[in-house]
Amino acid sequence: MTPPLDPAIGRKILDWFRARGIGQTCPVCGGTTFDVSGLFAMRMVDQAGQPVPGVGATFAPLTCVGCGYSQLFSAAYMGLIPHLHPPTSGATP
Ligand SMILES: [Zn+2]
Repeated sequence: MTPPLDPAIGRKILDWFRARGIGQTCPVCGGTTFDVSGLFAMRMVDQAGQPVPGVGATFAPLTCVGCGYSQLFSAAYMGLIPHLHPPTSGATP
C-alpha cells in the first residue's frame, strides 16, 4: 500500500503543474483528470543492471486516470527536494 501523500507536498506539485499548464489534456486519450500520487525514486544501474550506490533521481509522476499514461517530472527541478547536482545552463555534447 502506498503511504499517503503529504498534503503540503501534493499542493506544491499541483501548483507547479497548474502554473505551467501541464496535465490539462492527456495526449493519449484526451482525458482531463489526473492523479498525483507522490514522489518516486529511481536508481541508476550499471551495464550489468546492478544499482550504482548513491546515484538516482526522484520524480513526481502525473498520471491520467482515464488511460494510465504517466509523465515523470524531476522533483529537484520542481523545487521539492534539493538538487544533488546543480543544474547547468545548457546541454553538453
Ligand atoms: Zn489518458
